[in-house]
Amino acid sequence: MRTYKFRIYPSKKQEELLNKHLRLAKNLWNELLEHCKQTYEDFGYFPTKNTLQLMTKNYGFYAQAQQDIANRIHNSIMRVFKFRKKGIKCGFPRFKSFDRMKSLHYPQDYPHGGFLLDKKLKVTPFGEIAIKKHREIKGRIKTLTLKKESSGKWFAIFAVEIPKEIPRENKGEVVGIDLGLKNFATLSDGRIIQNPRHLKKWEERLSFIQRELSKKKKGCNNRKRAKLRVARLYEKIADTRRDFLHKLSIELVNNYSFIASEKLASQEMAEQHYGKQINDAGWNMFANMLAYKAEGAGCEVVFVNPENTSKMCSRCGSMTEKTLWDRTHNCQYCGLSIDRDLNAARNILTRATPGQGGSNACDSLLERDVAEATSMKQEAPNKQEHVTGPFSKEVYSQQP
Ligand SMILES: [Zn+2]
Repeated sequence: MRTYKFRIYPSKKQEELLNKHLRLAKNLWNELLEHCKQTYEDFGYFPTKNTLQLMTKNYGFYAQAQQDIANRIHNSIMRVFKFRKKGIKCGFPRFKSFDRMKSLHYPQDYPHGGFLLDKKLKVTPFGEIAIKKHREIKGRIKTLTLKKESSGKWFAIFAVEIPKEIPRENKGEVVGIDLGLKNFATLSDGRIIQNPRHLKKWEERLSFIQRELSKKKKGCNNRKRAKLRVARLYEKIADTRRDFLHKLSIELVNNYSFIASEKLASQEMAEQHYGKQINDAGWNMFANMLAYKAEGAGCEVVFVNPENTSKMCSRCGSMTEKTLWDRTHNCQYCGLSIDRDLNAARNILTRATPGQGGSNACDSLLERDVAEATSMKQEAPNKQEHVTGPFSKEVYSQQP
């Protein structure tokens, strides 16, 4: 599965109707959630999916979109238990205000479902909506999400099932990747990949206008305007970063047959160790993209334990203590003197290669659930104002 996101341009009338449906969806969400809580309080269990689906009958918007809300609430609740079992902190699904209900889901396409993509996007009951398809969709469309971004723009997000491709030939090289804060990544063959230009500037600007926003009084027009400004800039930053990560991961899987990267820490650890920056760099998103693009390109991606990869000498294996500010690896035993991140990238490659210096490869990818929660967090337009569990609707619309 992968997703395609296109801007759509509903007419005034269509937009009114879309907003009305969002409002109905919000009401339905809240009603069902209330029912779940009440049932649990009264009887000690949650209603079944079936019961919830029955409650959605004739709610006034598209039947499948109604049922989808029942399913999402049910899944969210199940997920709470799954997460808690794993010891991951998470909150119960929350009641939504109109501001928070931003998307309508169509779980099935034509002929059994309510939408059809042609020159325009035909959706029951909105009719034909103008759409800007900036690239061709490859594969079979499974679901549609109509989403209103905080900036007020509408988007259609398609989840598409892609047939398993026959692995393509690539150049057959192997590479280790060290992810960093100064540069986005350093490769074991010496190449340095920088963060996209402008991004840092925009991010600084974003934190500035976010601070400005927090000073504005609630409910006043100035604040609304500032909020919109934050949302727009956030969207621009997120788009730029996603685009950069797409291009980079495609290039890597096309050029290498074996890629070693570090297994990323869980969200919680990441925050303790690096503060906010780890999210901003989009590492989790990058790791996910690498993993799913590698499959179709005949490339193998291995994630290794990154412990001590910067301290260890990539030539002789002895340890040299470093602070975050030591940019060069100077080995006092064998005399190797190279860039700190290059040294780490070489260690990462060695660890992933069996039979060399003790394989330390972690066979699994990132824990999917953690990654999901993380990618959701990355999409939050404004941290202070978007405190929510991993169950917000974002999770459903942002899956890779
Ligand atoms: Zn050495």
